[in-house]
Amino acid sequence: MDYGKIYVIGTGPGDTEHLSKKALEAIKEAQTVIGYSSYIKQIDGILSEEQEKLPFNMKDEIKRCEAAVKKSAEGKTVALVSGGDAGIYGMSGLLLEIIDKESLTRKVPVEFIPGIPAFCAVAAAAGAPITNDFCVISLSNLLTPWEDIERRLRAAASGGFVIIIYNPRSMKRKEELTIAKNILLESIEKNRPAVIAKAVTRRGEEIIITTLENIDKFDIVTMNTTVIIGNENTYVNDLYMITKRGYGNKYDLNKNR
Ligand code: SAH
Repeated sequence: MDYGKIYVIGTGPGDTEHLSKKALEAIKEAQTVIGYSSYIKQIDGILSEEQEKLPFNMKDEIKRCEAAVKKSAEGKTVALVSGGDAGIYGMSGLLLEIIDKESLTRKVPVEFIPGIPAFCAVAAAAGAPITNDFCVISLSNLLTPWEDIERRLRAAASGGFVIIIYNPRSMKRKEELTIAKNILLESIEKNRPAVIAKAVTRRGEEIIITTLENIDKFDIVTMNTTVIIGNENTYVNDLYMITKRGYGNKYDLNKNR
C-alpha cells in the first residue's frame, strides 16, 4: 500500500482565525490529526466526528512523529499540527529526521504548510516593534545547552538586533529571564523599550509595554509569553511600540502634511 500524505501544519498563534486557507483545507482532508493536546483542542471546532484525533503530551514529540509515520504507512492522510509555524521550534525537522533514519524519505509524501509564528502576532499586537533585523532566542535549555543560549544573547545584544525571547519562563525555569536580562544589560541601556505578551490571539491575552530592566518583573511571564526587546531605534508613544527603520533619515516624513 502507498504511504498516505503527511501534512505538517502550523496552526498560528491561537485560535483558528489565523489558520491559512490551505491549512484549513489540509486539516479537513486529514483522516488522522496528530499534535500536542492543547493545539488539537484549539482547532477542535473545525474537526469532524469521523476524524481520528491523537493528542499527545508536551514532551512526546518523537512519539508524535512516529505515530504520523505509522498512520501514513497504513495509507492514512495525516495532519501533524504545531502552534505558530511548524518549522519554528516545531515538528518539521524532527519528522524529517525520523523519516530519514527509517530510509523513507522518498516513500512518505510530506507537505509543509506554514503558519503565523507567535512573534508576528505579538509584534502586530504591540504596533511595529520589529521592522528591521531581528533574532529569536528561546530560553529553554531542554535541547540547547545554556552556554549556547548565553552566547547568543550576548551576540544579539552586541549585534544591534531587535531581540525576541521565546520560552521566557516555565514551572521549572524561573530564573532564566533575569539571567538573560542581566546579560542584555551588559550592552543595552536599561530603559530600552520592551513588550511582554501572553497568550496573544487566545483567551487571556495580555500585553504590557515596559523597559528592559523590568521584563522579569511581571506575573504574566509564563511559557505562553513572548518578550520583544527593541533596538536602538525603538521608541514608545502613548499607544504603540515603534522601531524606526530609517525612513526619517532618508526622507522628510513631515513633507506634504
Ligand atoms: N512554533 C511556534 C513557537 C513554539 S515555541 C511559533 O512559530 O511561534 C513556544 C513559545 O512560543 C512559547 O514559549 C512562547 O514564547 C511563544 N508563544 C507561542 N504562542 C504564543 C502566544 N499565543 N502568545 C505569546 N507567545 C506565544
